Amino acid sequence: MGAGHGSFLGLLSAPFAAVAQNLGAPIILSPYRSLHGADNRPRRLPHAGVDFGGQVGAPVLAAADGTVSRIIEWPMSCGLGVLLEHRRFKRWTAYCHLQGITVRPGQRVSRGEQIGMVGASGGAFYIPHVHLEVCTFAGISHADGDLSGTEDPLKIAEGCFDDTRAYPTDRLVLTFPVACLHGASER
Ligand SMILES: [Zn+2]
Repeated sequence: MGAGHGSFLGLLSAPFAAVAQNLGAPIILSPYRSLHGADNRPRRLPHAGVDFGGQVGAPVLAAADGTVSRIIEWPMSCGLGVLLEHRRFKRWTAYCHLQGITVRPGQRVSRGEQIGMVGASGGAFYIPHVHLEVCTFAGISHADGDLSGTEDPLKIAEGCFDDTRAYPTDRLVLTFPVACLHGASER
């Protein structure tokens, strides 16, 4: 079984996702614009971000260098979350459904640095995952169906964070907000 890019993109039901997670590849439970939730049930309105499966308490990683713009507390939707600003690119990334936060507003973070812990807060369907969103303005993330000022994170994502790699600095490139176990990022 290859660990190429395509293997990240399959829609898997939650029980299979839990198994696959142990094999080291991050599992995408629900891509951008999807009409399926992280719980693999239909959602009424298209998804404003990408849901990455994870285990409760696992580190949530910054998807790019940035500054903590705000801590999000939105019980009905994002739950506990972090908004990072990527000023050079006029973009923000939001991370939702966290169990805890390890950064504070104004703090600079580097790609791959821990900003919190995976959880299932807010509208997470009891499935621990990180909802990652790319926004063209600062907000508190978006509810389903509200795609205004959002972009598809996977279009600018380059897989798992790899601290041996040099990432482009002339454009915003994201790495996944959950760690991949050893071997998952081999090409
Ligand atoms: Zn989501």
